[in-house]
Amino acid sequence: MKESYLVKPFLNDDYPLAAYGKGIYLYDSEGKEYIDGSSGAVTAGIGHGVLEMAQVMKEQAEKVSFVYRSQFTNEPAEKLAAKLKEWAPGDLNWSFFVNSGSEATETALKVAIQYWQEKGKGTKTKVLSRWMSYHGITLGALSMSGHIGRRERFTPLLEDFPAVEPPYCYRCPFNRTYPDCGLHCAMELETAIRRIGADQIAAFIAEPVIGAAGGAIVPPDGYYEAVSEICKRHDILFIADEVMSGIGRCGSRFAIDHWNVTPDIIALGKGLGAGYAPIAATMISDKVMEPIFKGSGLIMSGHTYSANPQSAAVALHVLEYIETHNLVEQAKLTGVYLKQSLRQLQQKYPMIGDVRGRGMLTGVEFVSNIFNKLPFAGEVHVARTIIDRAMKKGLLVYPASAGTDGVHGDAVIIAPPLITKREEVDKLVAVFDQTVKEVQDELQIRGFF
Ligand code: PMP
Repeated sequence: MKESYLVKPFLNDDYPLAAYGKGIYLYDSEGKEYIDGSSGAVTAGIGHGVLEMAQVMKEQAEKVSFVYRSQFTNEPAEKLAAKLKEWAPGDLNWSFFVNSGSEATETALKVAIQYWQEKGKGTKTKVLSRWMSYHGITLGALSMSGHIGRRERFTPLLEDFPAVEPPYCYRCPFNRTYPDCGLHCAMELETAIRRIGADQIAAFIAEPVIGAAGGAIVPPDGYYEAVSEICKRHDILFIADEVMSGIGRCGSRFAIDHWNVTPDIIALGKGLGAGYAPIAATMISDKVMEPIFKGSGLIMSGHTYSANPQSAAVALHVLEYIETHNLVEQAKLTGVYLKQSLRQLQQKYPMIGDVRGRGMLTGVEFVSNIFNKLPFAGEVHVARTIIDRAMKKGLLVYPASAGTDGVHGDAVIIAPPLITKREEVDKLVAVFDQTVKEVQDELQIRGFF
């Protein structure tokens, strides 16, 4: 487009004009095909151009698109909350709908603080989080995030929330090796709580599988059981940020289902609307709701579009579609195959330091030296280069770097829609193979590798 007044992420870049999408493919206005290897921003779980979604949207718009939540309840929102109750573990029976992942985590923060106020413990206002985490872009959500790149411009405005090291075994922050480490990263939570004082801490927030700030980092076995026990013992709520990892993405309904743990609050987004509508949710347990019901009887948060029938109808149908097509199971099986295929590339290309992930959320981390795991110099922008080259070749992958600080690695996320078939994984991996080869050869010539 020659003339444009749209503010885009990189203001000076040219972006192709999207024309349409079908299944795992997107097409631009020039007819070029792209494999959506990242489901956009790990969002388009059921793929593009699902005609029955258009039908659902049309039918709901013809009935009623919008009612205000303090004037009416509505059937799609009620049904969606009931469906999520069926999906969620333990006593996570309540859904508060919002419009984005940032709003979902920020609502989680507010609900956690309110819970303790209702219980007469108003000093509990801090949220403990982890370095290498991303919980959203609004100031409350960013305060809980350990994404250096997204924080640095606004640091003076952020709450000074404490953070502990992530369970990042590939580059263990404590230079230890699992299982001999004794889960030191989990134990550090205990130390942090003792240092700050449990009477100051409302909640601990964590992405069950770390997404945008690390690239599909899966903690070692026992980690969540350990942190959940520590939280319970110190009267601290556990918030699972499943904005990226939830709704089937990790080969289970919620990523946290892989462990024997039930959080007190879960934040959802992205895959809930699957790209068909902006909708997100904060799911709250009976335990947390009870004192709020008994106390003020009102959750002090919410947005104009919260629980609007149009978005709720879309999300409800996304969940039904996932159930009808057995996509959680498919994501589990295809995810194993995807990770295996990427691990084969790791054998071929020494610039691939690590391949990891769960289900259809996989990460590939790049290193300039496979033996000492030295990350590439920041100026190389290795993940950005891979992303740009892959896109030229017709493959979309997603950035996953907490900041190119020369300490943390630079990674990309590969997370195609849950509907992806094995043959489509082969096609995706073949393009990724060519991309890595091209970039590795070039970096070798430039002396960076
Ligand atoms: N939490 C996690 C784990 C995320 O991955 C994201 C988005 N990348 C967010 C929160 C924020 O979601 P949104 O961009 O919809 O505000």
